[in-house]
Amino acid sequence: MSDIRNDDNKTYDDIMFEVKQYITNEKDILTIKKAHDFAVKMHAGQYRKSGEPYVIHVVQVAYILATLHVGPETIVAGLLHDVIEDTDISNEEFIKEFGESIYSLVQGVTKIGNLEFNDLKEYQAENHRKIFIAMANDIRVILIKLVDRLHNMRTLEHMQEDKQKRIAQETLEVYAPIAHRLGMFEIKKELEDLCFFYLDRKGYYEIAKMVETRRNERDEYVEKMIINLKNLLDNQGVGTFDIFGRSKHLYSISRKMKKKNIRFDEILDLLAIRVITDTELQCYEALGYIHQRFTPLPGRLKDYIAMPKFNMYQSLHTTVVGENGNIFEIQIRTKKMDDVAENGVAAHWRYKEGSNYNPKTEQAEIEEKLHWFRDLIDLKDDKEIIDATDFMEHLQDDIFNTSVYVMSPQGRVIDLPVDATPIDFAYRIHTEIGHKAVGAQVNGSLVPLNTKLKTGDVVQIKTSKQSVGPNQDWLGFVKTSTAKSRIKGFLNKKESDEREPYVEKGKMLYRKELIEREIDLDSISSKQLTSVLAQFSLNSIEDFYYAVGSKSISISKVLEKLSKSGRSGLEDTEKFKKVSTRKENVSSSKYGVEVEGLDSMMINLGQCCYPVKGDEIVGYITKGKGVTIHRENCSNIADAKKRLISCNWIQDNKEYKYESILRIQSTNRNYLLTDIVTVISQYKASLNEINSKVMPDQINVMTIANLNVRDLAHLNLLMTNLRKIDSIFSVTRRGEVPVKGKALTDK
Ligand code: MN
Repeated sequence: MSDIRNDDNKTYDDIMFEVKQYITNEKDILTIKKAHDFAVKMHAGQYRKSGEPYVIHVVQVAYILATLHVGPETIVAGLLHDVIEDTDISNEEFIKEFGESIYSLVQGVTKIGNLEFNDLKEYQAENHRKIFIAMANDIRVILIKLVDRLHNMRTLEHMQEDKQKRIAQETLEVYAPIAHRLGMFEIKKELEDLCFFYLDRKGYYEIAKMVETRRNERDEYVEKMIINLKNLLDNQGVGTFDIFGRSKHLYSISRKMKKKNIRFDEILDLLAIRVITDTELQCYEALGYIHQRFTPLPGRLKDYIAMPKFNMYQSLHTTVVGENGNIFEIQIRTKKMDDVAENGVAAHWRYKEGSNYNPKTEQAEIEEKLHWFRDLIDLKDDKEIIDATDFMEHLQDDIFNTSVYVMSPQGRVIDLPVDATPIDFAYRIHTEIGHKAVGAQVNGSLVPLNTKLKTGDVVQIKTSKQSVGPNQDWLGFVKTSTAKSRIKGFLNKKESDEREPYVEKGKMLYRKELIEREIDLDSISSKQLTSVLAQFSLNSIEDFYYAVGSKSISISKVLEKLSKSGRSGLEDTEKFKKVSTRKENVSSSKYGVEVEGLDSMMINLGQCCYPVKGDEIVGYITKGKGVTIHRENCSNIADAKKRLISCNWIQDNKEYKYESILRIQSTNRNYLLTDIVTVISQYKASLNEINSKVMPDQINVMTIANLNVRDLAHLNLLMTNLRKIDSIFSVTRRGEVPVKGKALTDK
């Protein structure tokens, strides 16, 4: 297999021979010579695995580049592409000798050469390609790296088998597709066949053998067809042209057999002929005459001239049935198209001496022609392509600036928009990592969270459980929509959490205001309220409560507007207009009760259950008469859940004496009343009134009204001691079982 073993080493003279085909500028030639001599000197004493002097490698690379007619800078960089990496020259020295421009080319080649992925589980060839392209930053760097890899593949036999396999795999997954995207089919084909050889030697030899055995027979058919076509086109006067047979490369035959699950002799385009014309028009002319003479197979005609492929490839393809029923795939194209078809970007980029050569403009032109970056570097998901204009705008984006590719310490590649920061990275990994991020390390050193990341950076996020989370500042520098929406979400939630207490407070203040104005809460519908609130730029009742709670709006103004809005069924608009003059602090401190969320409130104690300090209580919002405090189990409020409001006893209130009503059942005896009064005064309570009644069953029922106690403990103590009095068998508070009959409703 002579095409695998490529020992035909080129020399400096060979480079010069190629170079002089298209470069005459004396200064350029001298620089190339200088670079060669420099490489020889710097690599002196270094050897390749094959035992050959190292410099032979860079000479081969430069030679292949010269055959592609690249510019002088690229050839110089090709010669020097390994000196930064493999010799001890300093960057300053290099720049002094060859200048910034060549330095950056070599630096680029070195950088992408060092691209390594630690974690193979995370490894994705697609990502590798992307980061490779992005880091190259210059198409010339990719060109040098591809040619470098080509020569390394040609000499791979000197490596150990596991290394051969690893390198071949990487080449097949990363380098060959890049060559394909760039339309550099010659290099792509050779890379693929070399990979095929090292990855599946058995398969490689099988196909090679089949191609070999069919060669004579095939060559005969092809020769005959070429003569037929020549005569046909000559007779029709289709310009000057070249017609030749061509063979598919082995790897593509194998891939096609596997992909389409067909046998070797079923591969149609094995008999392939290429027709080269001078002009585009002649391509179509030739096609017409060929179709007139030979039967075309349906569905096999492709016009890549009118519609070029993404990698600029142009050609007409057709498949016809030749003599003896042989099937030929015929490609028809101009010389220029053929050059592009073989060498892609490199063909477009042929160095033209004397023209105003400018690598930057050249590159921009190429990028404009190439549509492949759409496949290579996906347009970002958050920028949807809406129309053609929009698409063209994205196309204008320098392909190398569309994204930056950074890595996690495990080698996972994350693509981010330009100027993205460690925070963008963190949110891309996981929302919680973003929320808890407190610091970032880039390439091992601590950096601020708003640092702009560069392609190739290794990024590690420091998180902390104590993190208070993202803040408004982050929104100022993050670039990804993911990070933006996550941060906004976090901040909104935080705000609503902080808002909640104000909303509650506002709600209470509003209710209290209505109570004090003796306006029934139910008389104002939420629809009426909402429409009035709109005039204050408040979007919802909740916003209104928040505004009230945070004291940014006055309830009076809202109520005034409300009365003017012409509510129907409003019995007394004056209530809405008047500003409350009622003294604050009506009785809350007096009773030692606070209504939750309100500072002051008109309060009454329920005259049904007589709560005393210490009882479980709840407030009842009355219609215009403030809040009445009831014991929680009072039967009067059982059906009024909507109007209930939480209340608490204030602990430091000592002065007020709570009124309680006790019901005492006993048998009738003398001096019972005296005993009761004695106990009550003994425990420092006071009473005003005792009613006594002997029931028909001889049970004496006494009601102690206006019994004043300090609190529940005091009352309980009193009750316990009353129960100890002889003849008394029951002491209960009013409103409690076992009171017979219905609950009292005297409020
Ligand atoms: Mn190299």
